Amino acid sequence: MVSKPDNFTMRSTRWKPLIPFVIVVVCFVIQLAVDRGLQINILGKREWTSLLDPFAHGSLAILVLSPLTFYFGVSRKVALVALICAVAIDVDHFIAAGSFSISSAISLPGRPMAHSILFCSGAALLIGAVSRSWSATLAVLLASLCHLSRDASGGGFTPLFWPSDYEWHIPRPLHLTIWTTWGLLGAALYAIKKRKEAVPYNCS
Ligand SMILES: [Zn+2]
Repeated sequence: MVSKPDNFTMRSTRWKPLIPFVIVVVCFVIQLAVDRGLQINILGKREWTSLLDPFAHGSLAILVLSPLTFYFGVSRKVALVALICAVAIDVDHFIAAGSFSISSAISLPGRPMAHSILFCSGAALLIGAVSRSWSATLAVLLASLCHLSRDASGGGFTPLFWPSDYEWHIPRPLHLTIWTTWGLLGAALYAIKKRKEAVPYNCS
C-alpha cells in the first residue's frame, strides 16, 4: 500500500523537476547582466568593475555543473570543488603580476598559462587522482573549460593551446549558446527522469 502524500509533499514534488531550469535561466541572466556591466564600466573604475567577473565565471560554472549534479548524480561536494576551481583560475593573474593589486592583475599583456586546456586538464586529472573520483575529474574539467571559453570569447589573449601561442577567439553569442544549450538539455533530461519516477498516488 502506498500512503497518500500531504499537500506540501505533492507541491514540492511537482516543482522539483523545474529547479534546474530556474538555475539555468538565473545563471544565464547573470551572464548577460555582468557582460553589460563590464561593457559600460558600471562601477566607474575598471578595477572595481572587473570584480564582477568572478560572478559571471561562478554562475556559468553553476549552469554547466547543474546537469552533472541533477541528472548524472555527481555529488554537491564535488560540484562545489569544481565551482571553486572554475573561479580560482583567475588567481594566476595575481601570480603572473607578482602583486595583489587588481590594477596590475588586469593589466597583463595576456592571460597566464593556467588559462590553457593543458593546465586545466592536468589539474582536473590531479584532483580526480587525489580524490579517487573520475566524476571529480569530469566536473573540474568541465567547469574549467567553461571559464576558458568565456575568457576566449572576451577581450585579451587567452592561451588556450599553451605552450603554443595559437589564438582562438570564440564569438560570445556562440559561447553562451553552447553552454546554455548544455544546461537546458540537462534540465530537460532531469525533468523527464523525475516524471518517470513519479509515484502513482492513486494506487493502494
Ligand atoms: Zn580567466
